[in-house]
Formats: sequence, structure tokens, C-alpha cells
Amino acid sequence: MSAKPGSSVEAIASCIAGYDPNALSVEQAREFIARFVPRVEAVEKLALRSALGRVLAADVVSPIDVPAHDNSAMDGYALRGSDLAAGAPTTLRLAGATAFAGGAASAAPPSGSCVRIMTGAVMPAGLDTVLPQEFAQAQGDAVTVPAGVVATGDNRRRRGEDLARGEVALAAGRVLKPADIGLVASLGQAELAVRRRLRVAFFSTGDELRSIGEPLEPGCVYDSNRYTIHAMLTRLGVEPIDMGVVRDDPAALEAAFRSACECADAVLTSGGVSVGEADHTKQVMARLGDVAFWRIAMRPGRPMAFGRVEAGASGANSAVLFGLPGNPVAVMVTFYAFVRDALLAMAGATPLPLPLLRARATEAVRKKPGRTEYQRGVVTRASDGDWDVALTGAQGSGILRSMSVANGLVVLHHAQGSVERGGHVDVIPFDALV
Ligand code: AMP
Ligand code: MG
Repeated sequence: MSAKPGSSVEAIASCIAGYDPNALSVEQAREFIARFVPRVEAVEKLALRSALGRVLAADVVSPIDVPAHDNSAMDGYALRGSDLAAGAPTTLRLAGATAFAGGAASAAPPSGSCVRIMTGAVMPAGLDTVLPQEFAQAQGDAVTVPAGVVATGDNRRRRGEDLARGEVALAAGRVLKPADIGLVASLGQAELAVRRRLRVAFFSTGDELRSIGEPLEPGCVYDSNRYTIHAMLTRLGVEPIDMGVVRDDPAALEAAFRSACECADAVLTSGGVSVGEADHTKQVMARLGDVAFWRIAMRPGRPMAFGRVEAGASGANSAVLFGLPGNPVAVMVTFYAFVRDALLAMAGATPLPLPLLRARATEAVRKKPGRTEYQRGVVTRASDGDWDVALTGAQGSGILRSMSVANGLVVLHHAQGSVERGGHVDVIPFDALV
């Protein structure tokens, strides 16, 4: 059975084998989310320089061969491979004017001759090989090619070897990187069609939260999640919309969700989704949309709400909701485990799986099978060339410093049990994350 994006929570749940909102595996939650989220369709044209980090909306097809001509990869002498004697030096006669980059192709010189050529210059007609100048023994107009230093076709860049005319240079869905921008420039193209930037609203919930600049009364904490979320969204290349701290009050929460639906494609909240929360967040989420409340078999980040909230009866304005837990480490872990790929998919990108490093645990790691754990680790290169990973100490989900000290997340998979000292574990290096 399949359900299209835009389907209800119930319809999608029926597609997930063994779906139980109270005991969902990380993989099931990821599959659910991937099936649920819609993709932004609007496309805009941007000048090449403004397109870095944006999502390509259509394939870029090369209108030309790059390079447009066979040309030399070295400074040296262009010659015919068929003139070279097998296993013995060959002396050729220097003919014609030196070929410089930017000049047109020169006519074919007579057989047994060669032409002085510079890197990037078009190969003279009939010549197919370049002898690098450091191998050449030149005397007057005689150039001797020592035996065995070049073979036919060496040091010649072929027309179209970078890109052939009609070839797809970049596929739609690509998040544009510096090399891509250069590649498009090499085709002589000034603009790119990219998808509209995804708009992501976010706010924090909890009466204990204080914003920076406010005095910290007893029992209160500064709201750090909004800053972490803002930073993670910025790195992802979406447009973050900061809606502040929202009081634990149904009217304030409802107003916040409604305005998020009007201005954003997705809304991220933190806090207020745990079991037994005394606040109103969950009730308002449930009332305003189609939302599943999950307990995920993972640590940290067990409680999470996911679905769609809507403003207005028609549902014309809606936003995908990620109700993240409140604990600062859980916010980051759930973001990387679920939100990152979902937002990339919504933005029209084809997310590549995160690279995982296999690293050797420098200490025994306790782990219960039946849930996915994300522990904070510091990866270093050991003297034997292997990667070592040490845990950052206390792994409490409120200890944000553990994320700051770490340079990677140790992923202990669902079925995996404890790991002995020296055993290998998977690590997501933070520098691989956008
Ligand atoms: P909750 O998920 O609302 O039960 O919150 C779990 C824990 O995370 C509590 O200790 C909260 O004080 C803390 N917390 C919730 N939201 C934030 C936030 N925005 N910044 C820092 N800590 C938070
Ligand atoms: Mg709370």
C-alpha cells in the first residue's frame, strides 16, 4: 500500500509495518516522515553566484562540449603517436608556429614533425600526443623523444571529456556546491532554476524559559533551543523564522501555530511533548491539525510529535509540524535523526545518506538492544591509522556541553547491544552535517 504526501497520519500509519506510536523505531519514524512530507514546487531563477547552497530545480544539460577542442595538458611538443619508433628514441623536426592557449587550431604539419605547444592550446590538426618539455631533447629544429616516455594519446585532453554536449551536467535535486557553480559557468550559463527556499518557523514552549536579556528567576533556564535550532536551520540553507518563546497558554500557542501556518512550510517546536506534561502544547497541536504523538525507541529524544497543523477550516494554510522534545541534546539529536532529511526532501533536495565513520571505542559502551542510542563522542586518529572514539562523559540529555565538546555522534543501532572496549562503532562526524 502507498500513501502520497498530503495523506493523513492514519493513512501513512497504515503503510508502516508494525506501526505502534508508543514504540516506534527510528527507522519506522524516518519512513513515516519521508512518506508524509510534501515538496516545495515553486521555482525561481537566480544568477549563478546567488545559487550556492540552493536546490537545483531542473537538470542542467550541457549545450556544448567542454572542452570544445582537443587540447594539450602540458607545455611541450605535440606530435603523432604513429611517428614514434617502438623501443628506440625518435627525432622529429620542429614545424610551424608555437601553439598558445586561446589560438585557433593550426593545419596538420608534415609527418615526422612536431609543434611546440603550451598547456590549454588547441591540438594542431593530425597531432594526437604531447611530449612534456622536460623529456624533450631539443637542438635547433630537431627534437628527440627518448624511448618510452610517451605513448599515443598521452597528455592530450579530449574534446568533451569534462562534459559532452547533451549530457546532464547536474541533476535536479542537487544542493549546489562551489564546484557546481563553476561547472555551470564552464557551460557559459548565467542563471540557474532553483526551488524556492523552504521557510521554517520555530518557537520554544515552557513557562520556565527566559530569553537572553531577561533576568533569570529561581527555577528558570535560558532558552537555548531556539539558538541551536536557528543555527542548524541556517546551516541547512532554509529560511529560519524565529517566533520566540511561547507561553504555556492555549490562546498564545494557538496564535503561534496559526501564524506559523501562514508564513512557513514547516514549524519546529521544542518542549511540551513528553508524557505527563502539564502544559497545553500537545492539546493545541492535536486540535489544530493531524498530529501523531510518538514515543520513539531512541535515546535521547523519546517523545516527539509529528504531523501537520492547519490554520483556517479549508486547511489552505498548513505546515508540517515537528514537535521536538525540550531537552537541549534531544533537540539536536532528533533534528539530525529526522528533521534534517525531511526538510531537505521538502526543499526538493535528494539527501545523500550521512557518511558514517567506523571508529574504535576507547572504553566499553553500555547499550540496551531495542532502541537506537546517540552518544556524544570525540573522534581522533590513532597512531595505527584507525579512528578512535571516546565518549564525552555524562550523556544526560540536558547536558548541551556534551554536544559542544563532541565532534561526532556515536550511533548505536536498534538491535545492537553493549560494545566492548576496542570494538567498532558507527560515528556521524559533525563536520559532515549540514
Ligand atoms: P520538556 O520536553 O518540555 O519536558 O522539557 C524537558 C527539559 O528541557 C526541561 O528541563 C526544560 O526546562 C528543558 N527545556 C525545554 N525547552 C528548553 C529550551 N528552549 N531551552 C533550554 N532548555 C529547555
Ligand atoms: Mg516543558
